[in-house]
Amino acid sequence: MTQENAQQINLLNIAGNNAGNKIQINHGNSGQSDSDNDAQNDAENKIRDVIIAGSGPAGYTAAIYLGRAGYKPLVIAGALTPGGQLVNTTEVENYPGFPDGVMGPDLMDSMQKQAEKFGAEIVFDDVVSVDFGDGSDAGALKTVTCDQGEVYQAPAIVVTTGSNVRKLGVPGEKEYSGKGVSYCATCDGFFFRGKPIVVVGGGDSAFTDAEFLTRFGSSVTLIHRREEFRAAKILVERAKANDKMSFILDSVVDKISGENGSAKSATVRNVKTGETTEVPAAGVFVAIGNTPATEFLNGALELDEKGYIKVDGASTRTSLPGVFAAGDVVDSVYRQAVSAAGMGCRAALDAQEYLDSIK
Ligand SMILES: Cc1cc2nc3c(=O)[nH]c(=O)nc-3n(C[C@H](O)[C@H](O)[C@H](O)COP(=O)(O)OP(=O)(O)OC[C@H]3O[C@@H](n4cnc5c(N)ncnc54)[C@H](O)[C@@H]3O)c2cc1C
Repeated sequence: MTQENAQQINLLNIAGNNAGNKIQINHGNSGQSDSDNDAQNDAENKIRDVIIAGSGPAGYTAAIYLGRAGYKPLVIAGALTPGGQLVNTTEVENYPGFPDGVMGPDLMDSMQKQAEKFGAEIVFDDVVSVDFGDGSDAGALKTVTCDQGEVYQAPAIVVTTGSNVRKLGVPGEKEYSGKGVSYCATCDGFFFRGKPIVVVGGGDSAFTDAEFLTRFGSSVTLIHRREEFRAAKILVERAKANDKMSFILDSVVDKISGENGSAKSATVRNVKTGETTEVPAAGVFVAIGNTPATEFLNGALELDEKGYIKVDGASTRTSLPGVFAAGDVVDSVYRQAVSAAGMGCRAALDAQEYLDSIK
């Protein structure tokens, strides 16, 4: 650790023991002008003990735990969708503690208030670039730059920037989103008991979703733009053996239509013949992939082949010491609010252990 960093960490430790206070740094630089001092104070006020990028269930849970541990986390919440994916949905029925369900935006609003109650500071901006160093200097400050130009530093960073579902981009998709169109079979399958369902996609997720949805739907029609599937053979075979499932291949969805405010059918076009068919669909589940929000990292952390942040085993430790990651930005499998929140908790505990180790 450099002498400068050791001094900063020491001061950060003091701040960590005084949750709620701004970091006070006294350099005794009496020979400097007022404007020099102002510039220096401004820079120093941008140093935090821990920065959390992202404000979904993972980010706010990490903020709650770190706040309660005596730190004053800075949450860089994102400019477009602070609160994360649940802000774009209606009723959440599977988050524990809400027997009557809870509206996604209300749940995220409560998480934000809970994080603020324990001292989290929230900035509604996007991280556009990072400098995390090369990991050789234990406890070194890491730098994040925001879209509005603010630059913040901290020895510990928690990345919880989630992922974005890929959309079809067809008429009716937006209009019936949450009213038949869904991007999460685990979350919404239950709402389509006894109704016809369409699943769009040809990979593992599409097949897993389709099979799960046969528990609820009167029928499940899988629509795929090619003749061959990318999904594992065993998943394809199981689906083909399922009486409730049928397949429309070499075809794409051109439009989603509705009635009385809910989805009713999908217009499906065969890409080889151009022929169109109207397929009944109270539920249209789009399973064409997710894009993890990792672009801003620009190679700073190791990612897997799909672009998700790699972590060390069951921990949230990334390829660089002091940088942790949690939620959908790591997890391409479970992708649930409660699993993201659980991982946010683990990231906070990992970050705490790291901050203790560099004291
Ligand atoms: C329509 C829909 C309905 C769903 N319904 C359910 C449900 O009923 N039950 C359930 O358990 N799960 C549901 N899910 C899944 C659930 O929302 C996610 O698993 C969960 O939100 C993931 O949490 P997260 O904290 O990892 O990331 P997200 O919720 O994706 O949050 C990511 C955060 O990072 C921010 N961000 C992104 N890039 C940057 C950046 N560069 N700088 C700063 N901030 C950034 C975003 O603004 C956002 O605040 C649903 C998902 C969708 C899309």
